[in-house]
Amino acid sequence: MAAIRLAIVGVGKIARDQHLPAIAADPRFELAALVSRSDAHADGVPTFPTLDALLADGPPVDAVALCTPPQVRYDLAHQALRAGLHVFLEKPPGATVAEVAALQAEADAAGRTLFASWHSRFAAGVERAEAWLADKTITGVTITWREDVRVWHPGQHWIWQAGGLGVFDPGINALSIATQILPWQFFLTEAVLERPANCASPIAARITFRSGDGVPVEADFDFRQTGPQSWDIAVETEAGPLLLREGGAVLVLDGQESRAPDREYPGLYARFAELVEAGRSEADVRPLQLVADAFLRGEIRTVEEFHD
Ligand code: NAP
Repeated sequence: MAAIRLAIVGVGKIARDQHLPAIAADPRFELAALVSRSDAHADGVPTFPTLDALLADGPPVDAVALCTPPQVRYDLAHQALRAGLHVFLEKPPGATVAEVAALQAEADAAGRTLFASWHSRFAAGVERAEAWLADKTITGVTITWREDVRVWHPGQHWIWQAGGLGVFDPGINALSIATQILPWQFFLTEAVLERPANCASPIAARITFRSGDGVPVEADFDFRQTGPQSWDIAVETEAGPLLLREGGAVLVLDGQESRAPDREYPGLYARFAELVEAGRSEADVRPLQLVADAFLRGEIRTVEEFHD
């Protein structure tokens, strides 16, 4: 297969930290262009101020990776699919659940690949955790996802605006893992969202989910954590506990800790190439649906203002 000529749209933190190196290391992709409002550059690659300008005047491209905030992603994806391009969506795949369903229908009609990426599912411990849990009797799950927003999201004003998800921007990563490794569906029963008085999105959330059989899944998301950071999923089973730490990078089973090098974004691009080659899409909205349900069913409490 010829290399997929790819344009990155939105050259911010994740595009620089992860997409550019992953693309450079994968011969199935060729970085053909950047689309950047702030005129970001990469060596030997042309930059266009808008997707319109790329489509009108740029080199031929086969696909786009949309690395903007979620609020502006639908229109870009819609435009790209109309232009006959395959689309890689950063997480979360959209600002609403229904817009992702609309995109899936558009991709199907256009015969193009839509890939809603969930990078945390490619963390080193996740596949083994899923395999181990497949035949276990699970009695409870505790998700603790607490990080310091000032360290990880400095100056990202979009995260505090409607559709930016607030603490669910990292929290949805935990939900993407949980929906992958737990062998049953689960749904929200109650939630408390703490929203700073000057923000549209929550800074913390405590959520109770359950399986159909009543197994509890408790989640504690907080953006105010200083000191050690927590990205843990603990699963209690009748065969003993399973712990995923450090965002899924570390798996602890039978007291044995295993860790492997980070391959999240190389894994995402490998999957995208496979999907394009196979002419298929993959857009699992379950993590986004759970977040939407927290906004739908949760109690919102106003807390003190947040200032960067
Ligand atoms: P970011 O640093 O704020 O970058 C987003 C970029 O999108 C901006 O630099 C800008 O690039 C472009 N953009 C286009 N329209 C925009 C708008 N209306 N407001 C702000 N920026 C706009 O954010 P990020 O951390 O890269 O996150 C982007 C997406 O990746 C989010 O959905 C996030 O959840 C996801 N993600 C982030 C991380 C992480 O560690 N940061 C990890 C995994 C996934 P130009 O100036 O080049 O146009």
